This record gives sequence, structure tokens and C-alpha cells, in this order.
Amino acid sequence: MSLLSPANAIKIESLRCLRIEHVSNECSKCIDLCPTEAIGLSTSRRISLDSTKCVGCMACIGVCPTETFVYPDFDPAVFVLQTGIKKDITLSCKNNNACLGIFNSEYFISLGLRHDSVNCDMSLCSECDMNLSGKISVTIEEHINEANRFLQAVDKPSIAISKEQNKLSRREALFSFVKDVNTLRNEESFDELFDPKESLPKSRTVFQNSLKLAIEELPPKPILEKFSFISHKQIDFISCDNCGDCIQFCPTKALQYNSDKTKILFQPLRCIACGICDDVCKPKAISSDSVFDVVTLAFNRAELLIEHHFEVCSECRVSFPQKGNETICARCESFVQDHSDLFGLARDM
Ligand code: SF4
Ligand code: SF4
Ligand code: SF4
Repeated sequence: MSLLSPANAIKIESLRCLRIEHVSNECSKCIDLCPTEAIGLSTSRRISLDSTKCVGCMACIGVCPTETFVYPDFDPAVFVLQTGIKKDITLSCKNNNACLGIFNSEYFISLGLRHDSVNCDMSLCSECDMNLSGKISVTIEEHINEANRFLQAVDKPSIAISKEQNKLSRREALFSFVKDVNTLRNEESFDELFDPKESLPKSRTVFQNSLKLAIEELPPKPILEKFSFISHKQIDFISCDNCGDCIQFCPTKALQYNSDKTKILFQPLRCIACGICDDVCKPKAISSDSVFDVVTLAFNRAELLIEHHFEVCSECRVSFPQKGNETICARCESFVQDHSDLFGLARDM
């Protein structure tokens, strides 16, 4: 086990898992990444953590979109905020924090937006005993590369990765790590930023906060990229029957009705790209594109995805979302079509 490993210290809040949120969700990011198969799935679809197998690499924390895993002694959200702004910083498991696996793409983007330069020291990864089959270092690099695609799209410097060995020993590394964790515990609190009742992951709050700080330096152009941690939704007017399932099941309330339920509004900042809305939409009316506006994200603005005009069906007298000039609802229309032979027969008789 690594000197840096806080095994047995990772806690699991299994009710935050997307598999609990919706029965058809098949997320397995944590299970797939865990290098020791410490994460399992019960018959009731609950994620579990076997602490006797866990080596404390923290990769599950960095990969879970809902922050189901937490390490109480090191909060990456607080760490990123405490780095301040406009510095040249180096992230390393040796001297200032936990394994870089704890940071997801949003944290790396936030660091890139806040600072003049960010360097990620991965020089110990090749010999780290938590990095079994190189899985953890590959994931760290994927997160940094995704962050760099976002940073390049907003004309910010990319995060650098260094793999050169330096002189700090692993024993010294352990002491630095413990010292810094203790320092973090005593420093400024950012509790007012994080509402415990909020379904939005803390990394998204830090991402928004960092975007706001940098907004004046960001170019006024859309970001035309696909990311794993966020999606931009659209709804097809003709297909949507305003059933509201996407709104009901969206785990972060990114989709909402207006007060009279004639409009569906979308807050891109709140979307965690879980895909649940795509899965539950029976007519397949909702889909994703890759167009992000930084001002909309920074100020958590809502966009209008669809606006329905309601009409009363001349057959069943129930109001329905009218698509054109039709006077009967889709249900009555399909009933008439399904039984056209019968109607025809009755007419002939
Ligand atoms: S990564 Fe998170 S949401 Fe996905 S299965 Fe694991 S705990 Fe659930
Ligand atoms: S987009 Fe799909 S799930 Fe959402 S209201 Fe329309 S039909 Fe229902
Ligand atoms: S809008 Fe869809 S993809 Fe985004 S968080 Fe909600 S359910 Fe998930």
C-alpha cells in the first residue's frame, strides 16, 4: 500500500448514485476504474465499497459525476478555492495534496481558469503501487486533456503535465501530504458556497465560481466541443408530448417547467450529462448538442428549450400540446387510426 494512501478513509453516500436515481441508469464509472475491485453493486443496485480491498487511490472520487464518494480529510472543492487566483501552481501528490485522481475535469478547468499556469507533477505515477496497470494515471491524463480542450476553447493556457523525477522521496512526500491536509483543515471555510441540500455536485459550484472570476478575460464566442461532464440539451417540438418525465427524473434539476407547465427551461450549468433524460423520453424528443455559452454557464442562466400551445381535444375534451392546426390529441388520433377498419365498417353499415 502506498505511503500516501488514506485507505479505509473514503466514505460512500450511496443514495447520491445515479443508479439509485433511475432504475435504467447503467453508470459503472467507479466500478470500471477501481484498480482493486473494491467497489461492487448489490442486488438492490446500491454501490458498495469494500474497505479491506480499497487502497485509497481516490480515483472513484474523481470519476463519479454525483460525488457519491468523499474523503472527509481532503475536499478538492475547498482545495481549488483555497489556491486563490493568478498564481503559478504545481499540483503534486508529493507536496500539496492527495493523488491527482481525486480531481475531475471540472476541477482542472477551474484551476486553469483561476491561475496563470498550472503544472501537474505525475513523476511518481509510474512507480506508485496504487496505479495498478496504469489505470489511475491514464484517467488523470484524460481529465487533464478534457480540461485543456475547454481551456483552449476559451483561449486560456493549457495545463502542463510533467513526468520527470525530482528529488523528493516518498517518505518526505507522506509528511508533506499530512502537513498540508492539517493546514487545510484549519484554513478558511467556504461553507456558504455549498448548500448541503443542493443536488448539484460541489465541483460544478467551483466551476461556476471560477468561470465568473475569469469571465472578463474570456472571448465572446461559443464553445463548440463535446465534454463528458456536461451536455447541452435540445427538444424537438414535433416529437415532445410534454409528458414531463425528463423534468421529473433529472437528478440535478437542470430541466424545469415554468409556472403553467407550457415551457421547458434548461440550465446548462446544472447538467451532468447523465443521460437519464434521453433514456426516459419515450418519443426520443430530447437530444444533446455541443454548443456552450460561457456567460450562460457562469451566471447559471436558463434557456427556453420548448414552448407548447395547448388546445382542448374535440374528442376527449382533455387539453393537449398542439403542433399545428389539429383539433384532436395524439392519443385520440392514434385510436382513430388503429380502429379505422371498425369506423369504416360502421360507416358502410
Ligand atoms: S460513478 Fe457514481 S453515479 Fe456512477 S455508478 Fe459509481 S457511484 Fe454511481
Ligand atoms: S422531451 Fe420527452 S420526456 Fe421531456 S416532456 Fe418532451 S416527450 Fe416528455
Ligand atoms: S438534463 Fe438530462 S443529462 Fe443533464 S443532468 Fe438532467 S437528466 Fe442528466
